[in-house]
This record gives sequence, structure tokens and C-alpha cells, in this order.
Amino acid sequence: MATPTAVPSSGARILRACTLRCPECGGGGLFRGWLRIKDRCPTCALKLDRGTPGHFVGAYLVNLIVAELLFAFGLLTWLVAVWPDVPWDTVRIAAVAAMVVTPLTLYPFTRTIWLAADLIIDPLRPTDR
Ligand SMILES: [Zn+2]
Repeated sequence: MATPTAVPSSGARILRACTLRCPECGGGGLFRGWLRIKDRCPTCALKLDRGTPGHFVGAYLVNLIVAELLFAFGLLTWLVAVWPDVPWDTVRIAAVAAMVVTPLTLYPFTRTIWLAADLIIDPLRPTDR
């Protein structure tokens, strides 16, 4: 296992997280599938939940906020574009589909982004590896 020698900047951590890479070392392969994150980074052995029970709750919160904001923005944009002839039946179906698909699509990104935010707020500890 390689350990990074330099502390990444906050921007580097967020950018790495946005590409589903380890915020600490930039290594990839953090997920077993789309929804299952590994216990540790395969490159630097960082505990991806930082060894804290409930660490994932922050990722769920970020996921919910981003999904809701995207949904609200998309719906508002659509309604403004077609107003006053709104196809309400289509809007209902699309809204339900969007509220299911968007959080699932965003989930891995919000996991890594939450990890990056946590590392920015609470820097790396020796027990994180
Ligand atoms: Zn790593």
C-alpha cells in the first residue's frame, strides 16, 4: 500500500471525489458496484467510512439535498418552458421517475464527496488507515 506524502488541497480532494476517486490519494476502484463502497481505499488503505458508525448518514443527507435541488430546478425549468400548456400527466410520471433515478445516480458521488468534505473539516488521523 502506498501512502501519499503530500496533503492534498481542499479543491483537489473535492475534484477527486467528483470523479469517484479517493479524496486523499486520488486512487480509483473505491466501489464494488454502483451502490457498494469498499471498506478501504485499495491504493492508500484509507477507511472509507473513517471507522465512524453512521458516517454514511452525511452522504445520504448530501444525496437528498442535491437530488431535491436538481429536481426542483429541472421541474421549474420545464414548467416555465411549456407554460401554460403543461402536460400534467407526463409531469407526474417524469417527476416520480426522476425522484427514484436521481438519488441512485448520485449516490456514489455523494459518498466520495462527503468523505472529501469530512477530510477537509476533520483532517486525516492515524486511525484512518
Ligand atoms: Zn486512497
